[in-house]
Amino acid sequence: MNKRNYQKEMEEVLKGLQVDQKGRPKLLLHSCCGPCSSYVMKVLTDFFDLSLFYYNPNIHPQAEYEKRLATQRELCEKMPFTGKLTFLSAPYDPERFFAQTKGLEEEREGGSRCEVCFRLRLEETAKEAQKQGADFFTTTLSVSPYKNAPLLNAIGEEMAKKYQVNYLVADFKKKEGYKQSVQLAKAYDLYRQDYCGCIYSLRQREEEKAAQEAKKDPFL
Ligand code: SF4
Repeated sequence: MNKRNYQKEMEEVLKGLQVDQKGRPKLLLHSCCGPCSSYVMKVLTDFFDLSLFYYNPNIHPQAEYEKRLATQRELCEKMPFTGKLTFLSAPYDPERFFAQTKGLEEEREGGSRCEVCFRLRLEETAKEAQKQGADFFTTTLSVSPYKNAPLLNAIGEEMAKKYQVNYLVADFKKKEGYKQSVQLAKAYDLYRQDYCGCIYSLRQREEEKAAQEAKKDPFL
């Protein structure tokens, strides 16, 4: 089976879009956080009017959720956009994430809990895209080197069929996308978290940090 080149597929779609004086198509962009969305919005603003959707019930604790949300707003105010930008955040709903990931608490980052987490966020984005009458939807998640782009795109395409909205396939980590998102976050002086988001990824990061510390100090 041929391996798909999502970056190339996205470029083909972008090339075929009608962007003129009368306007541009509307894309609902699921955003996981400000830093990841910086690069993605920079790429997409020349082609779409963007509607940014912050829906992340996975993030723990609530104070962290609020901090990432505030950072997202800060970026939207600081960054220049060619097209229109609107912003929508969903109410914090961690119970939904906990209910759907029950039994997957011990999975490591990148395992089967993440598939459930991607599905939850992409399904809500597709629903919202349908409600808004958007022409496309997609997510910033593939900018991270830790996120599985083929899986994200497979779920996105499944949701596109279910909700009858085009899904923009992407692998935003290509063309140094991740590196550029780090640089942009620095340039806009944004807060950058050091764990993916859920309580389990927070625990994993704390364990990794403790293991690193223990290596440095043999008496710890
Ligand atoms: S590690 Fe990240 S992607 Fe995986 S379940 Fe937790 S928040 Fe979601």
